[in-house]
This record gives sequence, structure tokens and C-alpha cells, in this order.
Amino acid sequence: MDEKEQIIRLGRLLAEEERRGCDNSTVAGGLERFLTTWRMEAGDALRYEPVQQALELLAGYAVLDQPTRRARVGIALESLRSLFRAQPASHSSAAPQVTMPTRAPARRPSRPAPASARPLTPDSPLEDVPGITRIMVQSFRRLGVRTVRDLLYHFPHRYDDFTSHRTIAELQPGAVETIVAEVLDARTVPMKSGGTRLDVLVGDETGTLKVVFFRQPWLAQRFTVGTKVVLSGKIGIYDGLRQMASPEWQPFTDDDLIHVGRLVPVHPLTRGLVERSARTLIKHVVDRCAPMLEDHLPPAVLERTGLMPLSQAIAQIHFPESHEMLERARRRLGFDEFLFIQLGVLQRRVIWQAQQGYAITRRDDVHEAFLRQLPFELTGAQVRALEEIFADMERPVPMARLLQGDVGSGKTVVAAAAALQVIAAGFQAAIMAPTEILAEQHYRSLRALLGKVPVPRDDRHAPMDDLDPEQRERLEEIRRILGMSGDDDLDGRGVRVALLTGSLGAKERRRVLEGIARGDIDLIVGTHALISEGVQYAALGLAVIDEQHRFGVEQRQRLKDKGYNPHMLVMTATPIPRTLTLTIYGDLDVSVLDELPPGRQEIKTRWITTVEREKAYRHIRREVAKGRQAFVICPLVDESEKVDLPSAEEMYATLSRDVFPDLRVALIHGKMTPREKDAVMIAFRNHEYDILVATAVIEVGIDVPNATTILIEGAERFGLAQLHQFRGRVGRGIHQSYCILVCDKDQNDVTRQRMEAMEQISDGFRLAEIDLQLRGPGEFFGTRQSGTPDLKVAQLADTRLLHTAYREAQKILADDPHLERPEHALLRAKMDEFWVDTVQAG
Ligand code: ADP
Ligand code: MG
Repeated sequence: MDEKEQIIRLGRLLAEEERRGCDNSTVAGGLERFLTTWRMEAGDALRYEPVQQALELLAGYAVLDQPTRRARVGIALESLRSLFRAQPASHSSAAPQVTMPTRAPARRPSRPAPASARPLTPDSPLEDVPGITRIMVQSFRRLGVRTVRDLLYHFPHRYDDFTSHRTIAELQPGAVETIVAEVLDARTVPMKSGGTRLDVLVGDETGTLKVVFFRQPWLAQRFTVGTKVVLSGKIGIYDGLRQMASPEWQPFTDDDLIHVGRLVPVHPLTRGLVERSARTLIKHVVDRCAPMLEDHLPPAVLERTGLMPLSQAIAQIHFPESHEMLERARRRLGFDEFLFIQLGVLQRRVIWQAQQGYAITRRDDVHEAFLRQLPFELTGAQVRALEEIFADMERPVPMARLLQGDVGSGKTVVAAAAALQVIAAGFQAAIMAPTEILAEQHYRSLRALLGKVPVPRDDRHAPMDDLDPEQRERLEEIRRILGMSGDDDLDGRGVRVALLTGSLGAKERRRVLEGIARGDIDLIVGTHALISEGVQYAALGLAVIDEQHRFGVEQRQRLKDKGYNPHMLVMTATPIPRTLTLTIYGDLDVSVLDELPPGRQEIKTRWITTVEREKAYRHIRREVAKGRQAFVICPLVDESEKVDLPSAEEMYATLSRDVFPDLRVALIHGKMTPREKDAVMIAFRNHEYDILVATAVIEVGIDVPNATTILIEGAERFGLAQLHQFRGRVGRGIHQSYCILVCDKDQNDVTRQRMEAMEQISDGFRLAEIDLQLRGPGEFFGTRQSGTPDLKVAQLADTRLLHTAYREAQKILADDPHLERPEHALLRAKMDEFWVDTVQAG
């Protein structure tokens, strides 16, 4: 019988078994008995992958349940049939034509590509993969894998290292080792606990080893004496003898070893996907389709960077030949992710800056007048940041700059000085804060800083005495609404600052809006309603956005859509390590205030355990007795969590009822509306309360100079950057301040190191770097940072690769900012896809 007939014989039998409902009655003694003899007679037929796959699927047939048998017989049949299917070219021929591949090339004898009706491409749906079961398709779908391409990008999450290849004599107990050996004996042994165990004795020229498998009785069939097998697993000691328990294994052939004998990939799986069969399937798909992937990187980039081509990288990340190849594959795929990010952010910037901007001629006289009336000297860092900002604004290109500065580093003054230049040039400035209460705080400090600085006025915005009566009346009404006396704005020469919040009455609001539209108001402070509502500016020259992480790309876009091309200054107190800045804020130039104004007191920070709470309460009581106030912060606790952490509500109940019944305790929690939160914050600031219990909501810059203690419960749950932000809530006045971190000491090392870092380090940037090192970027950002791109391969800590990607992105965009050239078409599509996924994930 030749190989074709052998395969047909197998197919017939399976078809019959299928017809009988897979009750294993087709062959006396069971299907497996037939398979064993068939295998011996099959000869060359075993060379074909579909045949091997069928045999693998049917192993252990007797112990499978009927639905599984039906599924597997179905696939096995389908895959055998694929060998006989007519090639598309000869489709017209009526008789089923045998198109068995001719003898495969010698190098890879066992895997000729089976001819299939629909050729598999990266765009094929998973259903088209030969041998895939419906259950597998569904399971993959749960993982978001729907097409062959998705599967190619479904990377292993780890690799078991079986690269060592040893003789039995060399095996070291405790190590994970791989051997090639022959089966010398195999016997099934009942276990006390029920079920059976398979004891296999294998040997090579150097010795023998016992191998055991638990509760897999069907394996007995496969470990027939004389079979050569590859085994990978941990060497244990049992009864004083070395043995391997439940190793990975496969019959030994000279073919590529899929499951053992190399770095074995472990892919993320869900229920319904057995590791072994998923790996076989992925191997098949990778072998067949990875070479079809078109590389989206332009050849010039590949050449400059020396990165691996895409097909190779995909193949190697799934089934690496060696550690080195795996590393190169990771580099290549990580580069892609960084590049997509960089292209995305840089392109936004290129497009933002392609517009005509307002060139603001620098007015040193005005700046000096401002400096003269400041009650302090600028820090060196503030001077540097302002130089950078002024230089940006002098160019006819909209500035896009991020001002990073630790809490209390004096960002407001920088914003005020920048706004002043813009106003002196005849434009308006807007400052947006994330909450109304912060807007109000900005408003008060900016009015104090700028109201007394005279700015040159053109005719339209002339000082009061040069105005006609109608204009004059209008201005006076605005000043009345803004609560400005003549003294406050130097009779119209000073900067006019308006606060635009929800608390203005309808009529006054209309007047203020008119004032903004006419240009009577120079500086507008508010929440992001400033750009989302029907606010029309006469000439918006600068938009300052405070606390960027609450402010998305979308809002920036909205500004642009309103037809303004203002300079943009984004301010954040979140200390972001430089590598991350490049990634997430790659579209912004960065100025850093890395110096605190002089004379800042250090906030004494202590880490205590939960049993020491009493001590902390006594401390708070002492401070309150001195007239001070305190914050108590509780982490958000999910009700389903079984943790011993008080929620803010519970803490409030305990503190107000039991611990401090005689003190005034208030509560802010996440379910309150912004208005309600603000009301409580204001009351606290006005010292109507002594203690404020809060969830993480008070994180952002509210100023309560009289508060001297902040106690943080469940401190291990917060990032260091966030703890540092909390700590910045105190120490804002003249009094010595304290930060108390509560978390138990039986924590892991990382927590211990983090708490100790908080005690010892007061520099927010250093803390952020430490946190990034200790916990990685995911934890660093927590869930707050939406829109943070999801990196599957790239490591944010890999600064070199990130910089390479940054440079390449710049080069690509310099020539082709919209990626319109044909050689960039694929790259653009991939980048868009990446960002769509990112936005969805965010
Ligand atoms: P943040 O950067 O956290 O927004 P602020 O702008 O609110 O900081 O400044 C914190 C405090 O420091 C304010 O009271 C401000 O007046 C003061 N300040 C700012 N710059 C200086 C300086 N150069 N010298 C002394 N005090 C300063
Ligand atoms: Mg601030």
C-alpha cells in the first residue's frame, strides 16, 4: 500500500467512526489499537503534518468524552481531506483529484504545506486554520484573537528554558533539564488517592531515569518500549533516586522541536485552550503565515537601526532559536511600539505647530515691572523656565510646552509672567484648572500677582481716562462684577483678571463673556469649561493648563477646533521620570522646576503600623490644640476586597464618634458631586473643621496653610508620586508639618523600601524614579493615566530603544509629516491601529 492509500484507509475508518457517533465501536479493541498498527504500516504517510496532527488529536481516544471525540475526529478528518483537496487551479476537474505534495525537500521532511482550498493568509479568520476546533476559536476570541494576524501578535508571556540538552548522567536535581532517551519500560500503577500513575523508565548511553505521569492513562500507549522521546522538566529526588514528574515531552524526531528542547513559549491562554494544542496550532500558523507579513518599517529605517525584519521577529518571538534571537525579536517589536507612540505624539505636535502662531515680542520692561512688585526673587529654575517659554513664544509657531515642577515649586508665578507677556502684546490668556476650587485659588493669586502691573494698552483697550463714556461704563460694570476697585487695576492700566465658574449669576456671566469677547478682560481663569462652553475670545494668545493628567489630548484639539492657535503651556506637579515624559508627553517640550523656593521647611515623615494609630491621634490632638488642622486620607476600597482597611466613611464614623468626639470632623468622599466637595473644602479652609477625612480626591493642589498633619491610611496602596502629592497638602504655611504613613510592617520588601524612601526623600522626581524602578510603569500610573499606551513588548526602562524610536520618528516625519508617501502607507495604517487600540483601552 502506498502512502496515499494508507491515508485513505485511515480517513475511511474515521468517517465510519464519525457516522457511529464516535462511540469507539468501529474497531474491536478501540480506535487506538487500530492507530497503533496503522502507524506501524503507514510508512511515508507519517511525513505529512495533517497526518501527524490527526494522530496527536486521537491519542487517548478511549478516555475522551463523546463531544470531544466528535470534535477531534471532525478536525482530523478535515485535516486529512485537506491533503486531497483540488488545488484552486484545477478546481474544474470533476473527480476528486489527489494533489499529494511531491516528496518534500530533504531538510524538512515532515512538513510539506498541505494544499488547502482557501490559502491561509494573515487576514484569514481563525476558523480557516486547519485543525482548529470551534472551542479553540471561541477561546481565542475571548483573548481578542480573531484572525491569523491577531494570533501572530499573540505573543508568549514567558518562555520555559529547556535549551540545555544533557545526558542522563549529567542531570542535576533541582534543575530544569532536557534529555533525549529511549523508553525501556512503562507500566501503569494504581494510586492510593485514586486514578493511575504511569511509571516510565527511560535510558540513554549514560544511565536511566524514572519518569512519572499522573492520571493520564492514555499516555501508556505512547510510551511503548523502544520509542525515542524528548523530555523536559524539573529533576526531582524521590526515594533517594532522581526522577522527572510530569515533564513536557514529545516523540523524538529530527524535526524542529515545538514543545521541548528549546525555549518553550508559554502563551496567555483562557479556558478551552490546552497549552499543548494551542502551541501546536500557533507553531503551524507562525510557520505558514509569519513569512507573509509585509514589513511596515521602511527599508531605510531597518537599515539605519539594524533591526530584525518583521517576519523573522514574529517567528522568533513565538519560537526562539536562542536567547539572543529572542532578544533581537523583542527589540524589533518593542521598537515598533515605541515608534508608533512617537509617531503619534510627534505628528500631533507637527500638525499643531504647522499652524501660524502669534509671535509675542518680548517686553523686558513689563517683565521687570512684574519682578519688581514680586515679594520674592525668582528661583534659578523659574528663570530658566521663563527663558524657554519666552523664546518659544517669540516664534510664530504655537508653543507646546510642559512645565513640570514639584508641589510648591512655584509654577503659578511662571504662568503669570508668561501670561503677562502675552497680554502686553495685546492678546488674552486663559488659565484652566481641573476643579472650580483650584480655579478660584489661581484666580486669587493671579489677581494679586498681576493686578498691579501696568500693561501697555492699544486704543481698543485704553486705560479708563482715555475711553469714551460708553466704553467706560462697560468697563466699570465689568470691574464691578470682577470685584475690582480702581485701585486694584491701576485705573485700567493693570491686568484685568476674571474668574469664570458656575457660581456666577446668569446676568453677570453674560457680561463677563461679553468682556472676554470684546477683549476687555485680559486673563480668564476657570475650569476646562473655558474651552468647552460658548466662550469666545477676542484674541486668545496663551492657554495655560494646570494639572495635565486630568486634561486630555481631546481638550487640546478642541481649542484648536475653535480656531485659536494660542501658545500652550501645560503644568503638572506629578513628577514624571524623563523616560516617561518622552513617551507620553513626547509632543511637548519640557521645562522643569527642579528647585524649591528657599526656606521651605521639610515635612517630617513617619511610617507607623496600624497598632500605633493611637500615637498618631495623640499627635493630631496636640496640633489641633495649637489651632492647626489635619487631613486623614483613606484609599478607595472596593467592597469586594477582603482587606482590613477602613473606608473613608468608616474612618469618619470612628474618628467623629469615638476618637475625636469633641473636635470638628468633616468628610469628603468620591460619591459627592464636585460642588459638594468644593463646599466641604472651602469650609475646611475657612477653619470650620479641625480634621478632614477624605478619599484620594484632595490630591490636587488645594491650599490650606493652616493644615500641618496629613495621615495616610493604607499607604502601601498608593504610588510614591501620589503619596508625595498628598504630602504636599501640608507644609504650605509657616508651621512645622508632618506626614504620617500607616501600613503594617509585615509587608514585602518593595513596600518596605517604598515607605522608607518616603521617610528619607523629599524630592518628588527622585521618588518617582524609585517608584518606577520598584514597581514598573503600569503600577506607576495606576489606572489614573488613561490613554497611556499599552506596551506588550517594549520596556519603558529601555531608554536607548526609546530614543532610537524617537529619532527615527523625527526623521520619518521631517520628510513626510502626514505619512502620505506610498512607502509610509503601511506604517501609517499600523500606527492608526495602535492608537485606536490605545484609546479604546484608555
Ligand atoms: P505650585 O508649583 O505647587 O503650583 P505655587 O505656584 O502654588 O506652587 O507656589 C507655592 C508658593 O510658593 C506660593 O505661595 C508662591 O507665592 C511661592 N513662591 C513661588 N515662587 C517663589 C520664589 N521664587 N520664592 C519664594 N516663594 C515663592
Ligand atoms: Mg499649582
